[in-house]
Amino acid sequence: MAFESLTDKFQNIFSTLKKKGKLNEQDVKAALREVKLALLEADVNFKVVKKFVNTIKERAVGHEVMESLTPGQQVIKIVNEELIKLMGEEKADLTFSKEPPTVYMMVGLQGAGKTTTTAKLAGKLKKSGKKPLLVACDVYRPAAIKQLQVVGGQIDVPVFTMGDKNKPVNIAKAAIEFAEKNDNNVIIIDTAGRLHIDEDMMNELIEIRDTIKPQEILLVVDAMTGQDAVNVAENFNEKIGVDGVILTKLDGDTRGGSALSVRAVTDKPIKFACIGEKLTDIEVFHPERMASRILG
Ligand code: GDP
Repeated sequence: MAFESLTDKFQNIFSTLKKKGKLNEQDVKAALREVKLALLEADVNFKVVKKFVNTIKERAVGHEVMESLTPGQQVIKIVNEELIKLMGEEKADLTFSKEPPTVYMMVGLQGAGKTTTTAKLAGKLKKSGKKPLLVACDVYRPAAIKQLQVVGGQIDVPVFTMGDKNKPVNIAKAAIEFAEKNDNNVIIIDTAGRLHIDEDMMNELIEIRDTIKPQEILLVVDAMTGQDAVNVAENFNEKIGVDGVILTKLDGDTRGGSALSVRAVTDKPIKFACIGEKLTDIEVFHPERMASRILG
């Protein structure tokens, strides 16, 4: 699971603090130096770490902590609160359009887990009573359409496709008409991913966005790629604007730093975390629960 190593380190740092009883400024500073190293090793963005540690320092080197009967606990409480803030404070729910169908556009680099996540999201929405339609707009990767059909079949959600000979924007437009006729109140468009961000990719996404005007653009990023995931998020957000981020592969042996930096760097919420290959391995991202998980 992500964060194992970060959690171990935090627990060591905090158990030393708790044993000390009274704390002086030096104790707090020494502990925060270790917190900083632990976060950097977890691949959290450097600027984010610096700001985070400074905020904690300001709060922790005060009377409230030093004169408390349990200063170690106070420091842990502050770290917990700041971790929650860093990840966005509150969970960020999906929004729905007033006039159905609600359209979500899934974007991301190839291999990030976009197609799998598209199906996971559809499955989740179906369980909550919606009638989703998946749309195959990745006309470049040979097996992409088939893959979406397979995962759609597994969750019993229809997949709209027009093969690979049409422009993605036209497929998306036709899918909306289809959904309106068939009472599908949610449409999830699986767009093409590339190995790297390139202009053609962005232009195609912009064309779909401007034509379809999706309710939300959801960016899927691979947590295993650490700071790269954050750079990808920053880049997509600058070029096409995203409404939310979905972090995948948080189950893997990842250092998890992206979960801690994405929000701070892009100012866009993490809406879901994916924690496995099964189509049920998706959960709403709760900053508070994630902070507790990290602190162990
Ligand atoms: P796409 O190219 O972005 O559409 O990516 P895919 O949906 O094809 O996923 C790429 C690989 O990542 C597949 O082998 C998926 O099973 C795997 N994958 C996707 N999400 C997760 C996740 O949350 N955890 C794990 N362990 N694997 C995942």
